[in-house]
Amino acid sequence: MSTFSLDPGADQLAVRDWLHGFAADVMRPAAAEWDEREETPWPVIQEAAKLGIYSLDFYAQQYFDPSGVGIPIAMEELFWGDAGIGLSIVGTTLAAVAVLANGTDEQIGTWAPQMFGTPDDVKVAAFCSSEPDAGSDVSALRTRAVYDEAKDEWVLNGTKTWATNGGIAAVHVVVATVDPALGARGHASFVVPPGTPGLSQGQKFKKHGIRASHTAEVVLDSVRVPGHCLLGGKEKLDERLARAREGVRSGGGRNAAMATFEASRPAVGAQAIGIARAAYEVALDYARTRVQFGRPIIDNQGVAFQLADMKTRIDAARLLVWRASWMAANNQPFTSAEGSMSKLYAGETAKWVTAQAMQILGGNGFTREYPVERMHRDSAIYSIFEGTSEIQRLVIARAISGMPIR
Ligand SMILES: Cc1cc2nc3c(=O)[nH]c(=O)nc-3n(C[C@H](O)[C@H](O)[C@H](O)COP(=O)(O)OP(=O)(O)OC[C@H]3O[C@@H](n4cnc5c(N)ncnc54)[C@H](O)[C@@H]3O)c2cc1C
Repeated sequence: MSTFSLDPGADQLAVRDWLHGFAADVMRPAAAEWDEREETPWPVIQEAAKLGIYSLDFYAQQYFDPSGVGIPIAMEELFWGDAGIGLSIVGTTLAAVAVLANGTDEQIGTWAPQMFGTPDDVKVAAFCSSEPDAGSDVSALRTRAVYDEAKDEWVLNGTKTWATNGGIAAVHVVVATVDPALGARGHASFVVPPGTPGLSQGQKFKKHGIRASHTAEVVLDSVRVPGHCLLGGKEKLDERLARAREGVRSGGGRNAAMATFEASRPAVGAQAIGIARAAYEVALDYARTRVQFGRPIIDNQGVAFQLADMKTRIDAARLLVWRASWMAANNQPFTSAEGSMSKLYAGETAKWVTAQAMQILGGNGFTREYPVERMHRDSAIYSIFEGTSEIQRLVIARAISGMPIR
């Protein structure tokens, strides 16, 4: 177990500086354009791939960093650059983590590299869990997977929604029910390989923020995938289903799923911190130089205190994120749902800080001539995806009380 430390070490600081350079020189100048175009910024992803920032190796290295802060540092820096482009670059990791968490070594080795492609032919991946009638309540999902024993194939039917990179991905990871009577315990995850017939993109959503990131419905119409595309394999699934049917309530599966969420949520919190820090920096700079009543507006306590609160909340959010990331890397039990806590606080902080930044910039803050308006729009997703703020509070409340709070 590594000792909890707020000093990331020389290697991590070097990675941070390297990413900062990319965020400042490549992402920032492209941010407004791709926000307006509302399209996946393929040239920027390709540039990131050429530099090794968009690659399986890079994320694996950060993911397995024993301090735990490799991923949050990377996320914060990229999202400081731009959140829409940032999500286009890191969206693939959602699907990769699903394979990493549930797949066999062979499945990880087969599918994870195909999710990223190569620097000359970059690909993205999508994780498809949410459905029109199953958002916060994932147990309600209806996409069905039926086993065709004669062909050793699974047949998937259903409609997924809100999938980041849905329909444009090479590899889709789809969560489906194999036994609806078992609720969430009857779910399994499947890889849909590139070019599989029957999978198509439905509606592409026009969004309030993170507009460079592609979000769409994914329609699965009798999609047939080979037996080996079931993550974890059939034997493991059959054992799990048998236990569930016997009514064995070990809670092991649910606990494992919760532990995965607790470990992944801090990374999303770190993205929100990147946005908040970016907006804070713009506001600080502006407050120092904007002159009204013959003095810089930061000379007023009303403005200076606002900036003091912004910085304090950003640092507090980062501490929560780093603590939870360290806990995940060191297999510490999340007894108070510390991962959810970090995502809740960082997400709400990003919304609040970006709103304050707009206020400090006055009329300019309200225009697209300055970036804080975009940052404010981008921040709004952080109380919605990866579990809404209400769901984070529910998880925390249950963890601290031991009660089945509804
Ligand atoms: C841009 C974007 C990208 C996304 N990317 C992906 C992706 O890649 N893959 C994927 O699978 N999903 C993705 N999602 C889906 C996202 O995770 C869901 O939108 C989210 O889980 C909320 O579900 P919902 O939108 O159906 O809202 P609902 O669950 O319908 O919630 C509506 C409101 O009710 C509240 N609420 C619901 N239940 C409770 C409760 N028990 N107590 C208190 N309040 C409650 C919620 O907090 C919310 O405020 C994405 C969504 C967006 C917008």
